[in-house]
Amino acid sequence: IKKVMPIPKAHYGGRHTVTMLPGAGIGPELMGYVKEVFKYAGVPVDFEDVEIDPNADDNADLDFAITSIRRNGVALKGNIETRSTVAGVLSRNVALRNELDLYVNVLHCVSYPGVNSRQKNIDIVIVRQNTEGEYSMLEHESVYGVIESMKVITNFNSERVARYAFEYAKRNGRKKVTTVHKANIMKLSDGLFLEISRQVAKDYPEIIHNDMIIDNCCMQLVSNPHQFDVVLTTNLYGAIVSNVVCGLLGGAGLLAGKNYGDHYTIFEPGTRNTGTSIAGKNIANPIAMLNAAVDMLRHLGHKHHASVIQNAINKTINQGIHTRDLGGTATSRDVVDNILKHIKIATT
Ligand code: ADP
Ligand code: MG
Repeated sequence: IKKVMPIPKAHYGGRHTVTMLPGAGIGPELMGYVKEVFKYAGVPVDFEDVEIDPNADDNADLDFAITSIRRNGVALKGNIETRSTVAGVLSRNVALRNELDLYVNVLHCVSYPGVNSRQKNIDIVIVRQNTEGEYSMLEHESVYGVIESMKVITNFNSERVARYAFEYAKRNGRKKVTTVHKANIMKLSDGLFLEISRQVAKDYPEIIHNDMIIDNCCMQLVSNPHQFDVVLTTNLYGAIVSNVVCGLLGGAGLLAGKNYGDHYTIFEPGTRNTGTSIAGKNIANPIAMLNAAVDMLRHLGHKHHASVIQNAINKTINQGIHTRDLGGTATSRDVVDNILKHIKIATT
């Protein structure tokens, strides 16, 4: 593994063009807030909006989105729905990650002091294999009434995600990596994932390596989360663990996740929810998508704009301007207006 971070593309005259995939549910309104905040802060980023029709019976929209991301290198994404049940129509979210080979998902879970959450002072990094395992999309009915679903674990992908986790730990002053698995039951598949993480760990003697079974991990996360530093895990366990930790910190509306490959990057809210029931009501928490946008700015090298927006977000949260999901009474609009206010103070 040579490259850990992909190189940003589409850089011209100091501006970047980024693919925007609003998706369904609250996606479009959250993207509207991102555009508003970027405009207000004078961010030199242009968006190429790509809609994917959830009812389409073919993969044409998906192919177009993939082409756009290949061209721009970077995307900001909401959750995309796939309603068609026609054979061969792929889950769009999974297909995007698999086609672009975004083999790692990184979710940095840090507590906000101003959020009244179940656990305080959490700082856990979840490094999740993002393209195979239980999400291989290889399901079939072998005989009537019998469904088989293939969980694929490869040497190659296990090694590069493990390498990413240990390299991340080393570069960011982290002390411990915990491999989370179910190798006691899935001896071959999870066994391989665990074994490879142990081999990679040998190259990083300064970092402590241990492992934990997924079910125990969920219990430990809820009861004693401060023992965790970097968590390395397979695709489905990563989804579960991410949601547990987000729940401990304040829910689906706060944190952002990053999907990396060697060439492309997609930024999105950490728990990847559609939020259909709260769409269009001015109640969705805009913070997770704004945090994803800030991560994207850092990735593109727009450090100044990233920190201005990040500070405005942090001040707003720690001031107690909270939407309902955080126990507050603010609307999405109130939160965004407050962020704009702080950007104005910082830039004038
Ligand atoms: P999924 O897309 O996985 O089915 P949902 O869209 O049902 O998940 O979201 C799970 C829960 O999280 C719902 O109660 C939803 O209202 C809530 N949620 C998701 N995103 C946000 C957000 N940005 N602000 C507030 N609540 C959110
Ligand atoms: Mg949903």
